[in-house]
Amino acid sequence: MGTIDEAAAGSLREALRGRVITPHDPGYDEARTIYNAMIDRRPAAFARCADVADVRATIAFARDRGADLAVFGGGHSGPGLCLVDDGLVLDLTPMRWVRVDPESDTVQVGGGSRLGDLDHAAHAFGRAVPSGIMSTTGVGGLTLGGGHGHLTRRYGLTIDSLLSADVVLADGSYVTASPDNHPDLFWALRGGGGNFGVVTSFTFQLHPVGTVGVAVTVWPVDRTPEVLRWYREFLPAAPEELSGFFAVLAVPPGPPFPEPLHGRKACAVVWCCTGDLHGDRLEEVLAAVDEPAPPAFHFTTPMPYPGLQTMFDTLIPAGLQWYWRGDFFDAIPDGAVDVHHKYAENLPTALSTMHLYPVDGAAHRVGPGDTAWAYRDALWSGVIGGIDPDPANAELVREWCVDYWSDLHPHSMGGSYVNFIGEQEGTDRVRATYRGNYDRLAAVKRAYDPDNLFHANQNIPPAPE
Ligand SMILES: Cc1cc2nc3c(=O)[nH]c(=O)nc-3n(C[C@H](O)[C@H](O)[C@H](O)COP(=O)(O)OP(=O)(O)OC[C@H]3O[C@@H](n4cnc5c(N)ncnc54)[C@H](O)[C@@H]3O)c2cc1C
Repeated sequence: MGTIDEAAAGSLREALRGRVITPHDPGYDEARTIYNAMIDRRPAAFARCADVADVRATIAFARDRGADLAVFGGGHSGPGLCLVDDGLVLDLTPMRWVRVDPESDTVQVGGGSRLGDLDHAAHAFGRAVPSGIMSTTGVGGLTLGGGHGHLTRRYGLTIDSLLSADVVLADGSYVTASPDNHPDLFWALRGGGGNFGVVTSFTFQLHPVGTVGVAVTVWPVDRTPEVLRWYREFLPAAPEELSGFFAVLAVPPGPPFPEPLHGRKACAVVWCCTGDLHGDRLEEVLAAVDEPAPPAFHFTTPMPYPGLQTMFDTLIPAGLQWYWRGDFFDAIPDGAVDVHHKYAENLPTALSTMHLYPVDGAAHRVGPGDTAWAYRDALWSGVIGGIDPDPANAELVREWCVDYWSDLHPHSMGGSYVNFIGEQEGTDRVRATYRGNYDRLAAVKRAYDPDNLFHANQNIPPAPE
C-alpha cells in the first residue's frame, strides 16, 4: 500500500474544498474517535469531502497512490470499518443534508447524514423512512447493510424504501443507480454494504408516520423463559402496525423506571405501534403482556416518532467499549430460550445487552433474490452487545459476547445481518450473510470495483475472471 506523506497530503488539500486532516493537524484525534471506543486506529489522513467533486478527487488520489482507503459515513460500525491504520479516510461527515419533496413524497439524503437528520426533516411533513433505533447512526452504513428498526414490520427494511442512489465508482465515474439505471449495482447496494462505491446521496420513498404509540414492558430476569416462549408466538401473529424488540438487559437507572428496579437484570420488550393502533386499541393488544408473567413495569405513551428514535441516544452514548455479534433466527426453540436465560442471568456489565429485532411483516413481501438482503424468511435479526465504559472491561464484555454467540449460533439460520458482524471475520461469515446472493454480488463487484479499492467493509472480493 502507498503511503501518504505531508507533501502528498498537501496536494490533496489543494484539490479539495473540504479539510484534509493529518496527525499534525488540530482535530486529528477528534476525527479518529468513533462511536466504539474499543477501536483505536491512526489513519494517515482524513479527506473531509464537501461535495461530489471532493469525493471524486479523493478516490482518484487513493487509486493513483495505491493508498489504503476507508469510507466514513456515521462512524457507527462496530468493527470500525470507517477507519484504516496508515491509510486515507474519505470522510463524508460534511455531506449532512436532507431535502424532502412533498410533491413526490420522497426524500433525498446526503451520504454523511445521520438517522436523526432524516427523522427530523421528514417528521415536519408527518413522514418517515424505516431505519434503525438510534438517531446518531449513519444513514450510509445502515442503508447499505439493509437497515431495520421500529417501522420494519409495517414498512419494510430501509432498502425497501430506497428509490435510487447517486454513487461515485472506483474509476471515478458518477452514476445514479435505480431499477432502470445500473440495475445490478442498485440491486447490490441494497444490502451489499460499502463494497461497490461511495454513495453521495440516497433517495427514499416516504411513509405516513407522525405520532407513534410507544410501550416498554419489563419482567424479572428469572421469568425470561416464560416471556420468550410467549413472545415467540405473540409477535409474529400480531398486526404489522405493532413491532416489539425483545431484550435482555439491566434496567436503566433513571425515569421512567421505578427506583427499586434500577440496575436489576431483566428481560423486556420495547414496543412501537403505528397507524390506527393507538389509545384503547393499543391497551387491548398489549393486555397480553400479563400472560407469561406479571410485568415488573409496563408503560405506554404516545410520542412523536423522532422522540422514540432519540430515546436510547443518552442511554448508550458514544465513547463506550463495544463488542458485538449477530445472527438471523426463524424460530426461538426451547434450546435458544435456555441460552438467553443463562446469559441474561450472567450479564457482565450494566449496559451489555441482547436484542432480537423483528424483520418480518412488510420485509417478507420482498423476495430473497430481489435485493442483496438474503434473509427474507428470518423472523428476527439478533445482536449480542458486550458494552461498558471502562476499557479495563473490554475483554470481559468480549468474552461474554463470544460465549453467548457460540452457544446461540446452533439455533440460528447460519448467517448474520452484515452490520452486526463484529470483526472482519472472513469470507465464510460474509458468504453466510448473503447465502444464494453471494456469487451475484461478487460478479457485480468485479464489474464495478475489479481492484477491490473499497475493501474496508465486510468484503466481497471481485469474482475471478
Ligand atoms: C448504537 C448502535 C445502534 C444500531 N442500531 C441499528 C438498528 O437499529 N438497525 C440497524 O439496521 N443497524 C443498527 N446499527 C448498526 C449500523 O447499521 C451499522 O453500524 C452501520 O454500519 C452504521 O453505519 P455508519 O454510516 O454510521 O457507519 P460507518 O462506520 O461510518 O460505516 C460503516 C460501513 O459503511 C460504509 N459506508 C458508510 N457510509 C457510506 C456511504 N455513504 N457510501 C459508501 N459506503 C459507506 C463504510 O465504508 C463502512 O464500511 C446500530 C449500530 C450502533 C452502534
